[in-house]
Amino acid sequence: MVQQQRLTETFLALVHINSPSKREADAMAWAQARLEGLGFTVEYDDAGDKIGGNTGNLIARRKGEAGGPPIFLNAHIDTVQPTEGIVVVQEDGVIRTDGTTILGADDKAGVACILEAVASAIEDGAPLPDLEVILTIAEEIGLLGSKHLDASRITARSGWVVDSGQPLNSITVNSPSQDKIVASITGKAAHAGARPEEGVSAIMVAARAIAAMPHGRIDEETTANVGTIHGGQATNIVAPSCEVVSEARSRSEAKLQRQTKAMVETFQSAAQSMGARVTVEVERQYNAFQADTDGREVRLAGEAMRDLGMEPICSSTGGGMDANNFAAKGMPCCVIGCGYRNIHSVEENIPVEDFTTGARIVDAILRKAKG
Ligand SMILES: [Zn+2]
Repeated sequence: MVQQQRLTETFLALVHINSPSKREADAMAWAQARLEGLGFTVEYDDAGDKIGGNTGNLIARRKGEAGGPPIFLNAHIDTVQPTEGIVVVQEDGVIRTDGTTILGADDKAGVACILEAVASAIEDGAPLPDLEVILTIAEEIGLLGSKHLDASRITARSGWVVDSGQPLNSITVNSPSQDKIVASITGKAAHAGARPEEGVSAIMVAARAIAAMPHGRIDEETTANVGTIHGGQATNIVAPSCEVVSEARSRSEAKLQRQTKAMVETFQSAAQSMGARVTVEVERQYNAFQADTDGREVRLAGEAMRDLGMEPICSSTGGGMDANNFAAKGMPCCVIGCGYRNIHSVEENIPVEDFTTGARIVDAILRKAKG
């Protein structure tokens, strides 16, 4: 049986170990010890070397008693910042911080749900399938851990990613592709007071392009955002260069291509009309994720929720997830919640009852996934 007290203690231990992206080794070592204590053998892939991190993705295996196809469970162990000096506050059944740091429930609550569910099923003697627990690194900086996951080390071709919040009866079955668009504009420097007409302001080219660009919410499945601008040297110099970094996302490949093309062309035509040069680089960050809503993963998650008195719903998200990369590597999965709220902010918190429900869903899936 899922034990709320142990679940909470696991979580509190984890959030007190800092694990910013690329610096997850200490938290991984802690999780490794717990998994080994549950009878798993643990190894790491070389994703950390590829991205300059201090650990790879953790892959833990346990031979099951039930037979049937192996399954995987995943959560990411890195968190956004700040976490240094975390002070955890528990009141009215909710775990939060004192408001100076984030909590890191995204996604240490997911890690804790997996550890608790596995412990619960094993101590109840439930026959389990062959199980791989994959704890990923660097999810928060572009899904880098799962992107570089060595899928040849994973035998499971069916899994569940525990990394969403509320409501707990929601099964996330799709999320968009994302393009990163970097425009480097080269204008011409000139003295801004003496000879401004001899200059070409790269900042003005950027401004014109941005003002003309389709931006924000494009349609139900497509978004675009100008994220950062760097350019110029001083007020008395017509800016010779400016770099604009943007993104576009869509759950539709055709719409994403159309949006990205529109953004690229807007930079090109603004540069051309003002006598500047621009190079625009487009990099696909990850491909869209679409789970099979009739597939085994969604079905078992739904059954688990029904057992707990919830009516499952399938939902979409606008963010990228490790599930995007797993699906692209031939590892079908869906995403379930662990109850966290207000993530990526110092208001991040998790109600203990919801958190426990998250662990119970994972526990129920584990017991259903046999044979
Ligand atoms: Zn997350």
